[in-house]
Amino acid sequence: MSKTKQHFAQLDEADFPSFLSGTVWLVGAGPGAPGLLSLLGYYALGQAEIIIHDALVNQKILAMANPDAELVFAGKRGGKPSIDQGDISNIMIEYAKHGKKVLRLKGGDPFVFGRGGEECLALGGAGIKFRLVPGITAGIGGLAYGGIPVTHRDTNHAVIFLTGHDETGLVPHSVDWKATATAAPVIVMYMAVKHLGSICEKLVVAGRAPEDKLAIISNATLPEQSIVETSLQNARTIAQSKDIATPAIVVVGPVIKYRQALDWYVDELANNPYG
Ligand code: SAH
Repeated sequence: MSKTKQHFAQLDEADFPSFLSGTVWLVGAGPGAPGLLSLLGYYALGQAEIIIHDALVNQKILAMANPDAELVFAGKRGGKPSIDQGDISNIMIEYAKHGKKVLRLKGGDPFVFGRGGEECLALGGAGIKFRLVPGITAGIGGLAYGGIPVTHRDTNHAVIFLTGHDETGLVPHSVDWKATATAAPVIVMYMAVKHLGSICEKLVVAGRAPEDKLAIISNATLPEQSIVETSLQNARTIAQSKDIATPAIVVVGPVIKYRQALDWYVDELANNPYG
């Protein structure tokens, strides 16, 4: 056995928490690259009998599942509406009530714009025990793969995480734009490409400098990762004119300048399917 294989084999002996029958594990799969999955996530894939997963979960991660596990797709495909959130919770509850070990696998971190909170509330309400396994969120790990530290002592002591649309598909109306624009130098936006122009306009009207840097990182952590750098004022044109691939994470703020020196995910480092 190779040294690496031997090393991984130790995991079989590791003292992981038991995946009990009739419970649900909500696991964050990370932003894309399989190498960014946690060890608890890896273990859960080997134990679970039912795996309910989103569209953004890498096929290579699903391939780590126990071959006997049943895979249930619960994401959006080809722009068609996703399966109803209530239905997903009910599916999990039903399987758990039948004594199955249920794994709910989500992109990034389940509690970051991932509806993990809603699903846990539904499980708890139905008396089903669950465990939450955090994942690396796209708004931090994705930026790191773009050579952008989400904080740097010299630029920001705070970060805002913002979603570009709410459950109706529109820019969330509850956002306090004045506060969002001024509270932190760095704003990280999920699901923001579709409405990027109007979001950036709102930020500028609310007090943000039009020339503030903005970066869009598409397919972060994956070999096809690509990055576009622009400014708040030019973001609309860029979003319309360039074919911005999704999923994409958008970041606004001075930390983008560090890319020049920290853009490590290039050349031979950028071509590994595992990250
Ligand atoms: N729970 C997830 C976010 C789900 S919302 C997390 O913690 O990362 C989906 C959004 O996440 C996408 O619209 C995009 O903005 C972002 N995202 C997820 N994976 C990404 C990736 N590999 N590259 C860039 N953005 C990504």
